[in-house]
Amino acid sequence: MLAVPEALKDEAVSHLQNLLRIDTTNPPGNETAAATYMKKVLEDAGIPATVHEPVPGRGSVVARLKATAPTLGGIAPGDAGGPLLMISHLDVVPAERAQWSHDPFSGEIAGGCVWGRGAVDMKSLAALSLTCVLHLKRRGVALRRDVVLAGVADEEAGSDKGSRWLVAHEPDALRAEWALCEVGGFTLHVEGKRVYPIQVAERGVAWLRLTAEGKPGHGSLPHADNAVLRLARAVGRLHPRALPVHVSAPARAFLHGLGDRVGGTWGRLFRRLATPWLTDFLLRHIPEARARTLNATLRNTVSPTVLEAGSKENVIPSRASAVLDGRIVPGFTTGDLIEEVKAALGQDQDGIRIEVLREAPPHVVDSSTPLFDLLARTITEHDPGAVALPYMISGFTDAQPLSALRVKTYGFNPVRLPEGLDFASLYHAHDERIPLDGFRWGVSVLCSAVEAFCVA
Ligand SMILES: [Zn+2]
Repeated sequence: MLAVPEALKDEAVSHLQNLLRIDTTNPPGNETAAATYMKKVLEDAGIPATVHEPVPGRGSVVARLKATAPTLGGIAPGDAGGPLLMISHLDVVPAERAQWSHDPFSGEIAGGCVWGRGAVDMKSLAALSLTCVLHLKRRGVALRRDVVLAGVADEEAGSDKGSRWLVAHEPDALRAEWALCEVGGFTLHVEGKRVYPIQVAERGVAWLRLTAEGKPGHGSLPHADNAVLRLARAVGRLHPRALPVHVSAPARAFLHGLGDRVGGTWGRLFRRLATPWLTDFLLRHIPEARARTLNATLRNTVSPTVLEAGSKENVIPSRASAVLDGRIVPGFTTGDLIEEVKAALGQDQDGIRIEVLREAPPHVVDSSTPLFDLLARTITEHDPGAVALPYMISGFTDAQPLSALRVKTYGFNPVRLPEGLDFASLYHAHDERIPLDGFRWGVSVLCSAVEAFCVA
């Protein structure tokens, strides 16, 4: 285990505060300001860095510490010598200032936490990764693989001006075999036991539009062939558990690992959740917040989000539409999701047209790798008694665009959390904050893991 100086942890905290003070709310983004901050810090330490800016203001910064032995630095799929990329998005979602107890762009420390929009999602990992790279450089250690640092734009809007643009236009900048990104490495307290999920998979996306047609007419003369009624019947069928259960390999690995760690009645319950015919019955016996998260990894889902119909109080419109945020578990496609939606609509699918607005496939990385084992071991060394488990998230991250470069990305943003803090609920929430002690612990964890993986 690497002994990390306290001064380095102080430095990581101050980088986090400085990044939080730069407003990178997306839209519009303005990530260039944060990318330029990181570039300056890197260059002051003698590390060349480049800001790529596909559109003014929407910059992403990339820097590469080269392996000392040049033959080991290049990409070689399957070769444990391939580069490690540490990638964080620099944009954040909007914050309603009036709803916060501390200014969301203050980076203030209060009550043992660093406060600000992005403290969790995900300027914390940007600050940790930056600090690790600075530490490697200053110590002048020989590297057996390239270490790449990236702070990218636009993840919160789908990454088109960030990682997707870089993958398409500057692939060599991000070229790596392995990557560390969000979501994972935080403490989950379950029935008195501690586990640390590490993201190995994320669901695919299929945003759909349902459109109903009907007969227009005067609002004072109701008739049954009304597009709004037809759409409403269809949307009403799409409750959170409307589509069938599918237990994918990463979901099973997590539930079985969690069950084994927790043991007892709850342990048996978690293991049996992975038995499809028992899943829905058992989900009803789990507290709502936890059931919601688990449900989202155990089936394809659709959430109605945008409704459009009509323009005048007394005119029955001829068309009504609903956008569905569809998500797909590994092993399934957009076509499968559409078939499941049609089956859920039953006879209410008559007169409903379904179109695909945007899609991206599910993404899975093998957890039987030297890097996953190392991350899991590092967690247990720093929190004895805790275990790390492979984990699938319900949403998406920059891991999906990176898969086009065949990068194996794990979600690993280490932070130790006290019991009672529901970390997942801080994402995109009012009063987003990260515990100071837990963040400083993360500096030790990330620097130790990167050191063990990359130093010759
Ligand atoms: Zn994020």
